[in-house]
Amino acid sequence: MIRKAFLPVAGVLCALAFMGFAQQQWSVHDPERPMPPVVTPGPAGPPVAPPGDAIVLFDGKDLAHWTDAKGQPARWRVADGHMEVVAKTGSIRTVKVFGDCQLHVEWMAPAPPKGESQARGNSGVFLMDIYEVQVLDCFENKTYADGMTASLYGQFPPAVNACRPPGEWQAFDIVFRRPRFDEQGGLVSPARMTVFHNGVLVHDCRELTGPTAHKARPPYKSHADKLPISLQDHGDPVRFRNIWVRELE
Ligand code: MG
Repeated sequence: MIRKAFLPVAGVLCALAFMGFAQQQWSVHDPERPMPPVVTPGPAGPPVAPPGDAIVLFDGKDLAHWTDAKGQPARWRVADGHMEVVAKTGSIRTVKVFGDCQLHVEWMAPAPPKGESQARGNSGVFLMDIYEVQVLDCFENKTYADGMTASLYGQFPPAVNACRPPGEWQAFDIVFRRPRFDEQGGLVSPARMTVFHNGVLVHDCRELTGPTAHKARPPYKSHADKLPISLQDHGDPVRFRNIWVRELE
């Protein structure tokens, strides 16, 4: 779809589209895709204080800035300065909507660890409620590469595995550029993500192939310029704290 959208455009754009296509030589969830090397990050620290122009989405006190998928109050548990996924209450999303942004999220996988592969500390940070950075406990836990911690789920593994052990706070710092669509709904430029996991660069301005899906890589579909940020209920009691965002539009 990216190729299709770009092919009619001359010169440089064609070359860029080809590069984007060439990046993705593996089929979705390919078990043969190599796992990235492990890099031990620096030790976990206290919450990273938000800069002056940040919008604080969660300061540890309440879920006032969040709802469930139906717009009803979010039902995740809040205690001791964090929120925790309550299984089957559903994913939660921000009341405010965002496009291009810098997002800081701290999270913790349950300890002791329970389950294997995708069933160990699974959650997710979705930009625009569509594009997922995977939350998973991949500290000594094997899964398919494009579904591991900090993967752009189903599309790109992180450059390295910078996981801390379960029970320790971890951080994602994400720079997100939303996709651009023309008035007919055609793709003008794909979504891009730069991601740091525990301070380690794991995606450098990566072009997404389209929306996040399971066992599929669907094409882009035109959508609003701003949509909620959401956190996934995948059934595991993953914790989050200190979530803030800076708008970059
Ligand atoms: Mg997930």
